[in-house]
Amino acid sequence: MGNWKMHGSLAKNATLLTGLCAGEATAGHCEVAVCVPFPYLAQAQAELSGGAISWGAQDLSVHEQGAFTGEVAGSMLADFGCKWVLVGHSERRALHAESDQLVADKAAAALKAGLTPVVCIGETLSEQESGQTAQVIARQLAPVLALGADSVAKMVFAYEPVWAIGTGRTATPEQAQSVHAAIRASLVDLGVPQVRILYGGSVKASNAASLFAMSDIDGALVGGAALVAEEFLRIAAA
Ligand code: PEP
Repeated sequence: MGNWKMHGSLAKNATLLTGLCAGEATAGHCEVAVCVPFPYLAQAQAELSGGAISWGAQDLSVHEQGAFTGEVAGSMLADFGCKWVLVGHSERRALHAESDQLVADKAAAALKAGLTPVVCIGETLSEQESGQTAQVIARQLAPVLALGADSVAKMVFAYEPVWAIGTGRTATPEQAQSVHAAIRASLVDLGVPQVRILYGGSVKASNAASLFAMSDIDGALVGGAALVAEEFLRIAAA
């Protein structure tokens, strides 16, 4: 899954989407999706409809409609054919003060709108260095898991250590696997072992295969490398 963040223009997206559509067959059996800025949802829908690549957004409102200037409701994303929506990306948590509970509320709002929330979790560098990774992950997961097994079974999770996002510093496959295994254990405890857990943080074509070789890493959430069609498709192929 590509996260375009706040990148793109109609012209640049056209090149990227055309490249993705032209090469989508190289992704084999892998499910491929892009999460684009709100204004480009119509463009993604027009370019990707009928193909194998699905699309989504990077955030949504907890509210269904009303006087919430600047917000975008899940039903609006569904209107544009979105299948996915990111919730709780570390940039939203850090720059927009999104709490663990708000992220869970957004995941619930996404499900209500018929979207699959991709719930992003991950620790900061200082949390990692002080040995708090497990506690941070458990704290971020708690309100989401409290939504119950039926809801969680319809979600995707993305473990994204904040220190690895956009830094070029990737978690080693073993580091990522150990956190994924802990997340998996929580999901197993809830009775939903099959939920997909993506890894995110400086994933590139050159490191994707070693990450995907890990038993609990089911795919990737890709930022920078998702902006170049050939690179993104090489990750999908891996
Ligand atoms: C992301 O934005 O979710 C991300 C993982 O970014 P990057 O791949 O650039 O580290």
